[in-house]
Amino acid sequence: MTRVVYVNGRYRPYAQAFVHVEDRGFQFADSVYEVCDVKGGAIIDRDPHLARLARSLSELQMPMPMTMAALRLVLRETVRRNRVRNGLVYLQVSRGVAERDFAFPPPDTPATIVCLARSLPPDYAAARAERGIAVVTAPDIRWRRCDIKTVMLLPAVLAKREAALKGAKEAWLVNEAGFVTEGASSNAWIITEDGRVVTPGLSASILPGVTRATLIEAIAREGLILEERHFTPAEAAGAREAFITSATNTVMPVVSINGSAIGDGRPGPLTRQMRRIFHKTVAIKE
Ligand code: PMP
Repeated sequence: MTRVVYVNGRYRPYAQAFVHVEDRGFQFADSVYEVCDVKGGAIIDRDPHLARLARSLSELQMPMPMTMAALRLVLRETVRRNRVRNGLVYLQVSRGVAERDFAFPPPDTPATIVCLARSLPPDYAAARAERGIAVVTAPDIRWRRCDIKTVMLLPAVLAKREAALKGAKEAWLVNEAGFVTEGASSNAWIITEDGRVVTPGLSASILPGVTRATLIEAIAREGLILEERHFTPAEAAGAREAFITSATNTVMPVVSINGSAIGDGRPGPLTRQMRRIFHKTVAIKE
C-alpha cells in the first residue's frame, strides 16, 4: 500500500497526492519515468535507472529537475516513509504545468516531480518464476523513439489488454519486418538449442533495459554466449527456452508463446541460471 507520495517537494498523504489538470504529462504525455525494484530496503540498480532518466530528459530537451543526489534522496525517503522492504519505487518527471499549448512552456516552468513506493510480497516474482508466464504477440504500433522512457504507454496498455484477454501476462511486440522488438513492459530473450542467449540489440526501437544491461554483465562474467540480434515469433516458439527481463520481474521464464509451449512448457534450467546469475551480480554490486 502506498501511504505517502512525494509531489513537488512535499510528502503528501496518498488521498491528497495530486498534480494539476494542465500538467503536460496529463495533456501530452510530455513526461518521463523510471521504476526500480526494492529488495530488503535497497533500491536495485538505482544509479543506472537515474542515468537513464537523465538521458530520457535530455532527449526531450528537459533539464534535470534537481541534482542526482537530491533525486537519490527523494527515492530513499519515499521508500522509507512507505516502509517498503520489498516492492517498487516509481519516479516521474513531467515538463510541468502550463496553459495547454503544444509549444514548450517558458524555460523557468518548474518540472512536476512525483515519486511513489509500494510494497509487494517478498516472494511475489520468485513464486511466479517457478511457474513461468505465457506471452502472446501483438503488432508494435509505438513511435520510433522507444529508447526514451516516456509515459506515452497507450500501445503497451492495449497490448497488455490483448494479452490478458488471452490469458497471458505479457505481449511481445512484433515490428513490420516480423521481428520481436521487446515486451510491452520488458525486454525479450530466447535461448537457442546450443545454449546461446539471444536478445535484440539496442536501437531506437527498444528501451535499453537496466535489467537487460545487468544480465548482460552477468552473462559475460559467467562466460556464457550472448547474441544481440533480432528473432521472430516462430524462432521463439521453437527455442529451447525464453524469458523476459524488467526491474520488477528481474528474469521471468516464458513458457508459451501464442498458446504454443516453449520447450517442455516449464521454466528451463538455463533461464533459472539466468535468474540466479542476475541476482548474484546485483548482490556483488550492492
Ligand atoms: N521495455 C519496456 C518497453 C519497458 O517498459 C520496460 C520496463 N520499464 C523494459 C523494457 C525493461 O526495462 P528495465 O529492465 O529497466 O525495467
